[in-house]
Amino acid sequence: MAFDIDMIKKVYANFGSRVEAARKVVGRPLTLSEKILYAHLWDGDPKKAFSRGTDYVDFAPDRVAMQDATAQMALLQFMQAGRPQVAVPSTVHCDHLITAKEGAAIDLPHAKTESAEVFDFLSSVSNKYGIGFWKPGAGIIHQVVLENYAFPGGMMIGTDSHTVNAGGLGMVAIGVGGADACDVMAGLPWELKFPKLIGVKLTGKLNGWTSAKDVILKVAGILTVKGGTGAIVEYFGDGAVNLSCTGKGTICNMGAEIGATTSTFGYDESMERYLRATGRDEVADEANKIAAYLTGDDAVYADPENYFDQVIEINLDELEPYLNGPFTPDLATPVSQMKTEAEKNGWPLKVEWGLIGSCTNSSYEDLSRAASIANQAIEKGLVTKSAFGINPGSEQVRYTANRDGFLKTFEDLDATIFTNACGPCIGMWDRTGAEKAEKNTIVHSFNRNFAKRADGNPNTFAFVASPEMVAAIAIAGDLGFNPLTDTLTNDKGEQVKLDPPTGDELPTRGFAVEDAGFQAPAADGSSVEVLVSPTSHRLQLLDPFTPWEGTDLKGLKLLIKAKGKCTTDHISMAGPWLKFRGHLDNISNNMLIGAVNYFNDKTDNVKNELTGEYGPVPATQRDYKAAGIGSIVVGDENYGEGSSREHAAMEPRHLGVRAVLVKSFARIHETNLKKQGMLGLTFADKDDYDKILEGDTIDILGLTEFAPNKPLTLVLHHLDGTEEQFLVNHSYNAQQIEWFVAGGALNIIRREAAA
Ligand code: SF4
Repeated sequence: MAFDIDMIKKVYANFGSRVEAARKVVGRPLTLSEKILYAHLWDGDPKKAFSRGTDYVDFAPDRVAMQDATAQMALLQFMQAGRPQVAVPSTVHCDHLITAKEGAAIDLPHAKTESAEVFDFLSSVSNKYGIGFWKPGAGIIHQVVLENYAFPGGMMIGTDSHTVNAGGLGMVAIGVGGADACDVMAGLPWELKFPKLIGVKLTGKLNGWTSAKDVILKVAGILTVKGGTGAIVEYFGDGAVNLSCTGKGTICNMGAEIGATTSTFGYDESMERYLRATGRDEVADEANKIAAYLTGDDAVYADPENYFDQVIEINLDELEPYLNGPFTPDLATPVSQMKTEAEKNGWPLKVEWGLIGSCTNSSYEDLSRAASIANQAIEKGLVTKSAFGINPGSEQVRYTANRDGFLKTFEDLDATIFTNACGPCIGMWDRTGAEKAEKNTIVHSFNRNFAKRADGNPNTFAFVASPEMVAAIAIAGDLGFNPLTDTLTNDKGEQVKLDPPTGDELPTRGFAVEDAGFQAPAADGSSVEVLVSPTSHRLQLLDPFTPWEGTDLKGLKLLIKAKGKCTTDHISMAGPWLKFRGHLDNISNNMLIGAVNYFNDKTDNVKNELTGEYGPVPATQRDYKAAGIGSIVVGDENYGEGSSREHAAMEPRHLGVRAVLVKSFARIHETNLKKQGMLGLTFADKDDYDKILEGDTIDILGLTEFAPNKPLTLVLHHLDGTEEQFLVNHSYNAQQIEWFVAGGALNIIRREAAA
């Protein structure tokens, strides 16, 4: 599981000179984000300044991380690329496919049996191609990466949107689709539009009940789910230095919830402490040698308005704890106002479950602070009024927290200790009674709270908070409980108050673990057989997509005009569908089943233009495919926000959708569509969304002259015989147009490998 110190030394050897070269070409002091970006150019030393938000740039990431759900498709694609080994250090983490129900002792063996063929595939394909493999139960990808692989100034991509968590250790770490990961593992450059920069100046120090989580809950309230789109959020100031490394990770983690490309912090003593505590003295020593380059220039932080596209300032001394939700992570309510807001909005005050865990908040520090609240509850004669569940972030955290008594404290409060895995955070939660779809409230320390996310129940009102606040609210069983001011009645009928949490940034006795759950790859994998059964329902080797036919697209059917929020969860639902992540045809049966049909406000119910009947979206599309008719999906703002899963792009491609036309795209999803050879288009005039009518047949014109910055034309043939046409934009550059022409980026990689 060893971090790759030789790779890190190589990165650092060039870091200073590349930053100096970047300063020259840019002609001014640099932010940390710019230093890392310019130090990772595919072409080596910076030779020109890039325009933020405009220029596409090729980068050379240092690492790739993949979780089990997305790794399946990423590695099935990699197998098609024709390369013998991965070109950069890469890891696979088995964390998404483990259902939380009874507790780790029962759930983990069950998952290992239930998903054996997937884990065997991932283990064997990792073994063959030189990839580190973290077994089920080893922990959640982003905690394991932070504990083992993240390093200051590094650049990483990962097939999960919360890859950004590694910004807590000063990386530029970005969530991508499996196709991007496949490129980088195949030794190709990774392309990204040079991001804009948002600076967040933190002053003061967290105190009382306020935690690092509240910083990002506050930022999410300010910037909203779209406010960080296309930008790196860089935190700085004395308040940043005062935060722990894992606290920084929490803040960066939820940068995904504001749509940010990533978030990062400059190298400081908290990172050094964390590196040393996690057995990486060598990395800390190397980082110390170039420390001045691993943070933004002083002049930038002294006058941030001149260097960032937007600046936000937060005084940690004054920051209140927040509860964000329900149904969106940017609806930020200070805990002190929650009772009023909940009553006003009809949010159920009774809390059914308190859940602590997820990659966002499952560090040793998180568990120690939550345990301090649990401990007080026991000492003060309180019990939890809500059910209570804990997912430790890694086996190392679990083992150490167990040794230090935290898990026993939680269990004494009747908490269930679930597996070191995602569990309820990704809908892998077999929650008793969820199928009744009753209106209810849960609080959790996760990052996302979209409808149905945790338990599949659209009427579960989920609120996001810090682990210590989740513990306090679970004990009170009341969403309106404010531990700063309110008292609770104990078993003697006395009024007692919870004191603010205490905890340890790092274990005073050091981390410990018996078996971290790592499998190193074979030194020579050429004779290793990759295990994929031809009769499997969960894994399917891929066939290449067909190239573009060379003509305009005419006679497309409107498959669905999606209304409002359409996240990747709506396009390719998680939960029970996770088990088909390695089988494109089977998982395509969930395509767009969560999207709301504009014309009838129903989900998974669209008009089949061949039969005139209303039916499920996937079945309707399969009818069009069988008839050899292409189709188009229309969507609203920020289409495809949420996760990096390329299934949301591959499923429509596999089933014969030809284009997705929306008011605006979430970045990762737009790139994923392009990689799969799909057309991702945006309305030149957003009001044209209203012109799309049920039953429209649609032509896309201009493809024979498809070129960067050149709009295409959309022609609508309405059912009443009238026609309308308007311009649609695209953001394809020359290379992305080649992907479209070839039928997908992978077709080009394979061609090049064979040449
Ligand atoms: Fe797992 Fe949730 Fe983190 Fe995603 S956000 S990696 S599902 S814990």
